[in-house]
Amino acid sequence: MEKIYLDHNATTPVHPEVLEAMLPALRENYGNPSSVHSFGRTARVQLDEAREKVASLLGAHSSEIIFTSGGTEANNLALLGVALNKGGKIITSKTEHPSIINPCRQLEKQGIEVHYLNVDRKGRIDISELESQITESTSLISLQHANSETGVLQDIQGVSEIARNRGILFHTDAVQSAAKIPFDVKAFPVDMLSISAHKFNGPKGVGALYIRKGTPALYSPVCGGSQEKKRRGGTENVAGIMGFGKACELAAERTVKAGKLAELRDYFQKQILELIPGTELFGDGEHRLPNTLNLGFDGVEGDTLLIALDMEGVAVSTGSACSSGTGLPSHVLQAMGIEEDKINSSIRFSLGFNTTRSELDFVTEALVKSVSLNKTAILSGEN
Ligand SMILES: *Cc1c(COP(=O)(O)O)cnc(C)c1O
Repeated sequence: MEKIYLDHNATTPVHPEVLEAMLPALRENYGNPSSVHSFGRTARVQLDEAREKVASLLGAHSSEIIFTSGGTEANNLALLGVALNKGGKIITSKTEHPSIINPCRQLEKQGIEVHYLNVDRKGRIDISELESQITESTSLISLQHANSETGVLQDIQGVSEIARNRGILFHTDAVQSAAKIPFDVKAFPVDMLSISAHKFNGPKGVGALYIRKGTPALYSPVCGGSQEKKRRGGTENVAGIMGFGKACELAAERTVKAGKLAELRDYFQKQILELIPGTELFGDGEHRLPNTLNLGFDGVEGDTLLIALDMEGVAVSTGSACSSGTGLPSHVLQAMGIEEDKINSSIRFSLGFNTTRSELDFVTEALVKSVSLNKTAILSGEN
């Protein structure tokens, strides 16, 4: 059976060139970048080259890149880094990734004030609520660029300018948007930005926090040796970082194809909306990542559809309680005010740059079949 992977927002396959780029560091070039001998110097050169590539994807300088173990750690470094050094109020949103929400909850337990901005039914924050929440003591605004469940994009330009004008540090979780849509830190006054390699064909367990030159010193949650300018101790994941660098290089070439990807996604969306009555699009259809589609299917459980599609070799994810492993329905769709039964009917399709039209046609057909079958089951009381 041919398998079709439409879960690229969860993770992506490692690109063959990325794997190639990693192998030398696992074979002959195994030195520790902190060592002074030739083994160490070789590793150091590799590390520096990868850092240049990551910086280049973001329009940053290589000295502004701190390697971490992924997006989660980059987000933690930004939040704890500011809060445990400077204190002050944090403003974030209700639809952030758990790697933002949970450190914020921890900080609240330590007495830090955090405000979680509401979103509208399309998943976007209200700038006037943000402005009304800014106080003298506000030290940090952290707002995601793109949401992983809906693909909804926030107005990072507008918010970062407000933060800059008010003298507040601004961090964005760009893990989902990086390498899908072009982003240049020179164009926006962003102080810190998180990215993760495995969301764009790099290896798992490696990411980075961009920290703009001149940003005040941060508290370091991971202390140890003096690696990463003492902002993140521990011997560097050289192989992972080399793969990360290669993934950034490949991504820079391909973000130009984002328009084509959006066209394909829109075609897929149109087919489904036409063929399956009662289907609802969740999230802002306009301000959205080019690869993401979150739909609710009237009267059918998302989990049932996920399993039916899996049996056809198609991988997707849902916003329901069972699949998230938390026992709670999607906090993102909840914050958007989507009714619980609709949340439980939701499916997220996230395309990759290699997804084809014929794959999507196959999935549409499988969906039409599964939805009508399971609706019949409900009507005839078999469910
Ligand atoms: C995946 C993801 C993260 C976490 O990144 P990891 O590298 O898996 O720790 C953070 N934020 C968003 C928006 C994500 O999609």
